[in-house]
Amino acid sequence: MTVAETTVFETLESNVRGYCRAWPTVFDTARGCWLTDENGKEYLDFFAGAGSLNYGHNNPVLKQALIDYLVGDGITHGLDMSTVAKRRLLETIRDVLLIPRGMDYKVQFPGPTGANAVEAALKLARKITGRTAVLNFTNAFHGMTLGALSVTGNAAKRAGAGVPLIHATPMPYDGYLEGVDDFSWMRRTLDDSSSGIDKPAAVIVETVQGEGGVNVARAEWLRALADMCAARGILLIVDDVQMGCGRTGPFFSFEVAGIQPDIITLSKSIGGYGLPMALVLMKPELDQWTPGEHNGTFRGNNAAFITGEVALREYWTGAGMEAATLAKGEHIRKHLTAMTETFSGTSTRGRGMVHGLVFDDASQAAKVSSIAFELGLLVETSGSNDEVVKLLPPLVATEDELTHGLGLLTRAVEIVRDAH
Ligand SMILES: *Cc1c(COP(=O)(O)O)cnc(C)c1O
Repeated sequence: MTVAETTVFETLESNVRGYCRAWPTVFDTARGCWLTDENGKEYLDFFAGAGSLNYGHNNPVLKQALIDYLVGDGITHGLDMSTVAKRRLLETIRDVLLIPRGMDYKVQFPGPTGANAVEAALKLARKITGRTAVLNFTNAFHGMTLGALSVTGNAAKRAGAGVPLIHATPMPYDGYLEGVDDFSWMRRTLDDSSSGIDKPAAVIVETVQGEGGVNVARAEWLRALADMCAARGILLIVDDVQMGCGRTGPFFSFEVAGIQPDIITLSKSIGGYGLPMALVLMKPELDQWTPGEHNGTFRGNNAAFITGEVALREYWTGAGMEAATLAKGEHIRKHLTAMTETFSGTSTRGRGMVHGLVFDDASQAAKVSSIAFELGLLVETSGSNDEVVKLLPPLVATEDELTHGLGLLTRAVEIVRDAH
């Protein structure tokens, strides 16, 4: 095997770099579900930009639309000026996403990252209610800026803040307290004026905790949460940055519960092509921003508006994408379930096309991820102790590609088990 030339990364690039350590090669090109490194070795991508590449790398339909736009000197940087690209995107969000689902929301363009959308959502909820406290959940992940970190669980990430992370109180996520009614603590503290927990502006939740270890909230749990918030005048924020854009089957991950959150955050795959973009959706009466109250230089990434719009129109007109994702997800689930029967000390969980293979011995997950890389498969680990190998293939992966990747994963687990 050729050793990759990585000197400049090791001598010049900051220590903060992360994924390059797990995947020590230099990637060059990519198409669909496949990445190719500079030596021509191919890797099947079951990571998909942490969920930013639901439509695959360099999706040909999106690429052509982007090329046409660039060649035509379409606006690239637009702050929040009105542009043809943004009008097209807003009209498509209305016609393809909102109207068919009976959803009435206003659309905000925050800065182009998930964390920025979360910051905007938290600011708005506090402004509307005049309250400062927020409830979040155990093992949550909402991003790296201070507000987003304050509602994130991971201790190492929190420690990086360098200031106290306050005004947020974590509640047990679905299944966190095994065998206990998950809401008994939350309901009791909310309804006891002397519980010591201030009445919150909002509750922020992921329907499936991606970074937190592929923890899946049941539909009835999400419904109960929505009811509990509504009855108490607490705003419900669903952070759909990773699980939205069809990852769990339907476009919005909360559709499975039949709820309509007060505020929704989207990013990662909303730009379609891996280009930065984020959205905050809010019920119309909650749009209490004053002009420019939340702003940002890169809110108008019009190239992402073009690819995001084409992705919505191409993939989300009709119910085909949802049905295909659920069918492929079932294929993945069956394969993983069979693996847990073969390999003791493993279990699996997931929804749609996000799945985790959980190892009782957490150290095995990192080894499996590392061997998988050598075999030509990219899978990352997640969870409190990085005990979960997380599968996040592009939604456009074919059944053959999924079978191939699952075969490589099986082989990686065999190798790790044999070495034991
Ligand atoms: C990735 C992620 C974020 C943060 O998005 P960035 O673009 O990295 O700032 C927020 N929430 C969830 C659920 C995420 O998965």
